[in-house]
Amino acid sequence: MAHIAFIAPGAFGHINPTLPIVRELTARGHRVTYATDAAMADTVRAAGAEPVTYRLKPVEPLVLDGMEAAARGTLALLEEVEQALPQIEDAYEDDRPDVLVNDWLGWSGALLAAKWGVPRVQSWSAHAASEGYDFGAFIVGMFQAAPAVKAEFDALLAVLLERHDLPPVELHDFYRPAARNLVYQPRAFHVRNETFDDRYAFVGPTRLTEPADFTPPGSPLVLVSLGTIIEEPEFFRTCVSAFADQPYHVILSVGTGIDPRDLGPLPVNIEAHQRVPQPAVLAHADAFVTHTGMNSTMEALGSAVPMVAIPHTPEQQTTAERITDLGLGTVLTPDAVTADTLRTAVNDLLANAATRQRVRAMQQEVLTAGGAPRAAGVIEGQLPTG
Ligand code: UDP
Repeated sequence: MAHIAFIAPGAFGHINPTLPIVRELTARGHRVTYATDAAMADTVRAAGAEPVTYRLKPVEPLVLDGMEAAARGTLALLEEVEQALPQIEDAYEDDRPDVLVNDWLGWSGALLAAKWGVPRVQSWSAHAASEGYDFGAFIVGMFQAAPAVKAEFDALLAVLLERHDLPPVELHDFYRPAARNLVYQPRAFHVRNETFDDRYAFVGPTRLTEPADFTPPGSPLVLVSLGTIIEEPEFFRTCVSAFADQPYHVILSVGTGIDPRDLGPLPVNIEAHQRVPQPAVLAHADAFVTHTGMNSTMEALGSAVPMVAIPHTPEQQTTAERITDLGLGTVLTPDAVTADTLRTAVNDLLANAATRQRVRAMQQEVLTAGGAPRAAGVIEGQLPTG
């Protein structure tokens, strides 16, 4: 039995893909500890890990409206490390792990593994970086456009390295691969996949189903969701205008911050909920209007559902580009969304047999990528005894 430590920031998008791997490793008899924000203790405990929690001072949410603000967002990650790393190091002082799995934004994990000389696996919850697909270079460029923030970052990093006796690193290093890397997409879906070598295991999504009671209201069925973070009541009102009286059923998952009653009376073919059992709904769906969060995208492909992509962040834009490049759906930028463009996009998608066929081929890639059992094997492969 080995001791395997996970380290990830306290955000569901970063932690969720790792939970089935935690379950798999504990089922194989390993002891798993999980260092994350105290707010996530119950979540990681439920998967079978011993929580190792740290606390962060509350901060004002950043509005990411330009290069300077984006650079400040990256500086904020280092300010979290400043607080979290000593708390994590204390907790592991007499309890060093045999292998450490860090989320790509769990920088404390990368730093401590190097300090301790412990083998490390990096978990890429969205897209992974390689030498040929180097989004770290973009971050470095972004910092050059905000020299005062860069100076603050470098000064704080120097203090941290010295204070905690850590091996030298620079900003760009946080975006480089580890010796072993887990990516929760099939290789065929990943952007610039020809630039990724065998350090990366493209294990695909680790969770594709959940036990849920769901009876589809009818067929064809269209699901609309912008995920768990974006809140846009106006978008869902546009959906109601777009899909009223169309010859299909529409389920709107509006998010917990919106009251479905605020959408007004709904036509008979449309229903709105704050949250739905998404994988179960997708199993019956014919089209998915989505913000292309990585989990949602993989769940759609796992059920062979073509997508209308409405990406809201750069990462989602990359995913949306893959969807269109591979012919798995179409894209609408948020500012191009009107009742007409949305209706046309969904109607065209429902009529497109070639897209459905390509989505079915990608479904096979998703279902055979290996998921959590393969990811657990990759981690076990890093144990000192092999
Ligand atoms: N989800 C769900 N029900 C909903 C909306 C979302 O279960 O009504 C789940 C969805 O299945 C996915 C996750 O929430 O697993 C959203 O993750 P994603 O990476 O797609 O987007 P985010 O919410 O992080 O932007």
